[in-house]
Amino acid sequence: LQQLILEGKVQRLAAVGLDKLGRFYCRRCGEQEQIYVERLSSAPQPCRVCPSCRELGTLTDGIPLYRWRVELPRIKPSGVPPPLALPALTVWQEQAVRESLEFWRQPEPRTLLVWAVCGAGKTEVVFPLIRDALAAGKRVLLAVPRREIVRELGERIKRCFPGLAFTILYGGHKEEFPTALLTITTTHQLLRFTSCFDLVIVDEADAFPLYGNPMLNAALERVILPTGKKIYMTATPDPSWQRRARRGEIGVVKIPLRYHGRPLPVPTLIRTALPAKKAEFIPPVVKEFIFRLRTQERKGLIFLPTVQGVEAFARSLQQELPNQADQIDYIHARDPLREEKVKRFSTGQLHLLVTTTLLERGLNFDRLDLLVLYADQERIFSVETLIQIAGRVGRSAADPGGVVYFVAESITGTMKTAHQEIVRMNKEGNSFIKKKATSPDRE
Ligand SMILES: [Zn+2]
Repeated sequence: LQQLILEGKVQRLAAVGLDKLGRFYCRRCGEQEQIYVERLSSAPQPCRVCPSCRELGTLTDGIPLYRWRVELPRIKPSGVPPPLALPALTVWQEQAVRESLEFWRQPEPRTLLVWAVCGAGKTEVVFPLIRDALAAGKRVLLAVPRREIVRELGERIKRCFPGLAFTILYGGHKEEFPTALLTITTTHQLLRFTSCFDLVIVDEADAFPLYGNPMLNAALERVILPTGKKIYMTATPDPSWQRRARRGEIGVVKIPLRYHGRPLPVPTLIRTALPAKKAEFIPPVVKEFIFRLRTQERKGLIFLPTVQGVEAFARSLQQELPNQADQIDYIHARDPLREEKVKRFSTGQLHLLVTTTLLERGLNFDRLDLLVLYADQERIFSVETLIQIAGRVGRSAADPGGVVYFVAESITGTMKTAHQEIVRMNKEGNSFIKKKATSPDRE
């Protein structure tokens, strides 16, 4: 490293330093507003500390950051694409593969939205494009919202790209291959990179923590080379992306059908009286829901807006149904037993989980029905969140149906919009099937 600094290839700078106007700012995350003076046990003098990116390790004006001054050494393109073992793709996935390869090979547009219904299998669709990029010696970054998803994605990459070396990075974990062109990471870790990627793919792009976080969005723009391209993948793009796609400012590839080709379960909107604060009674619709789970041997999720609500409601269910109490539990992000509970729910030891939006996306369960209580709490249950939640049901080919209830004391515009949007996507999927069935050059 010292050698590289002397050669002028690497720059050594204080992590918290002065900008052109003489104000302190963080060179990792760009924080300007909140730089605090703190006395740390590790330093003899008080330091200027950046609180904004502390979860990646504390940075101060006494800690150096190193930055490449020159372009990263290019990897000589092998020209030989890495072996790719894809699972069997549906006709509509294959069409999306062709369209995304087209996007990669054309100079414009530079941004692509992959808009796929929940359970369409959108990740595999970009694998052929990744193979092309790697064969051309391009650096590729795949970013996903949570560490569990990074791990799961790492396993999938191993299966689909046998023998490929890649770097995997999430909070507290790093497997690095210095020559690897492919990096998989959580979105938080974007802050660690400088501009070096030719292609950045963001999965679940509308999810926490990226959505609505200016610091991470700035980091996302920064890691892409000026000539690089960007792909957003989501089931629920926010309205501004939908507008940009309609205006042709960004490319869009749609996957209108689930991989099993069956329509999305359409939610039933139910208006009924609900307990006000404490769970002083169990609404009849919930009792019927649980009864149905028992008789049809299915699993159920009940979504509530708050952690307190989740715990209280699960407890009153356990009291109300003592003979099922050991099969009912609750879960939320602060629950230390959450991974264990998810496992017990997957294996069927638990048949009912009361949850916050923690289980809104990412995890899949068989034979699932679900119910959203207080679905009119729009700050928690936005249109996108309701669509994602409904998208948990009917994901397997063996059980493509299932029940989705949105329950509230009044039916809000948000609930109606989520319902309409799901109906609209089903129509789009249906017309896709019809078009394929009548087109003369069908595959
Ligand atoms: Zn910072």
